[in-house]
Amino acid sequence: MVELLSPGGNLEKIKFACLYGADAVYCALKKFGLRSQAGNLTKEQYIEALNFVHSYGKKLYLTLNAYLFDKDFEELFGIIDFLNTHKPDGVIVSDLGVLNVVSKNTDIPIHISTQANITNSYAAQLLKNFNVKRVVIAREMTLEDIKQFKERVDLELEAFIHGAMCMAYSGRCFLSSYMTGRSANRGDCAQSCRWRYEVIEEKRSNQPITVEEHKEGSFIFNSYDLCAIPILPDIIRSGVKSLKIEGRMKSIHYVATTTAVYRDAIDTILSGGKFNEKIEYYMKELEKVSHRPYSLGFYLGKPKQYLASSGYIRRCKFCGIIVKTEDGLAKVQVRDKIEAGEYEITQPNFKNIKIHINSLFDENMNKKICGNPNEFVYIKIPEKVENLSLLRRCSESNSGKVEIQKVAL
Ligand code: SF4
Repeated sequence: MVELLSPGGNLEKIKFACLYGADAVYCALKKFGLRSQAGNLTKEQYIEALNFVHSYGKKLYLTLNAYLFDKDFEELFGIIDFLNTHKPDGVIVSDLGVLNVVSKNTDIPIHISTQANITNSYAAQLLKNFNVKRVVIAREMTLEDIKQFKERVDLELEAFIHGAMCMAYSGRCFLSSYMTGRSANRGDCAQSCRWRYEVIEEKRSNQPITVEEHKEGSFIFNSYDLCAIPILPDIIRSGVKSLKIEGRMKSIHYVATTTAVYRDAIDTILSGGKFNEKIEYYMKELEKVSHRPYSLGFYLGKPKQYLASSGYIRRCKFCGIIVKTEDGLAKVQVRDKIEAGEYEITQPNFKNIKIHINSLFDENMNKKICGNPNEFVYIKIPEKVENLSLLRRCSESNSGKVEIQKVAL
């Protein structure tokens, strides 16, 4: 059985990932989980998340994949004690020291993080001696590499299918650390590779030369995002057990939409459905989340750099969460300003409906001109929708269609 694994940057995102179809989520405590800018979980939130995920029959993997120094280990031992009482379904580690300690002090299944850059079966064989159950393979492997790898080692393989890419071997990069003091290997990357760069001649440091590829500037380190939809059947056939969506720092809208798309895609492939006929619809949905242009990463061996700008493509604005519906009214928790106009509701069951909002109401049914973030407003809806559906406003509302970009091969 293939697993869909979604990012759980905080408790709310974990719940949305489960409701929108993930089989498992990965998340971190406040320490040692990389992505220090994500919300991450207090110990109390972790216990709530674990109970929530298990109540849905799903799995929770905890990331402990930072690279540690000796001074960090006392705290790590404390975390391991805590995890032995509240066991996740796996811990994800990179650092050999962490692997050593975790393998000797717990029986929780160990997954090796993509940060460890495992690219061959010989490295994976060695890891079996440390009770490793799964390897998150390096993003830099091609489909052919993965097939060979899988033939030679009987560990579970996990592979990224969607999300941001590094221009360096995942995380093995000091750009951010050097330029901002924020270390990618401690989960605090400032994404310095997305910045605009100039050339300076050694003896003329006061004369920076703008190397312009186009009027926006030069973004020489800036990678495309990964979107593996067009080759998802090949990835599944290659023997990958777990298909992972990147993005613990992304929004609820991103987590819900990408999870719902890949849930439907996996189910369609595994049930022998008409996957190819659905690709265009999947891409249309994936265009609605914030992203850089999509590519197939390294899967076919030709990674792409994104040279147009360092910005994101944002076609839809995530406006609110529908927390309850009753008698043709939806109660919306506002996340971004809502006013009269065309909107779309996307539901956990992967069904979208378009609505026109004429009026907004407060809880006493007084009309409001708009809803502002953190308020609750009521809107009329033409049909019942599932609780925790998302309300969004897309640029297609004006033009009538979303421009679908081709995934770069
Ligand atoms: S600066 Fe860019 S390449 Fe380096 S770790 Fe951060 S995202 Fe990856």
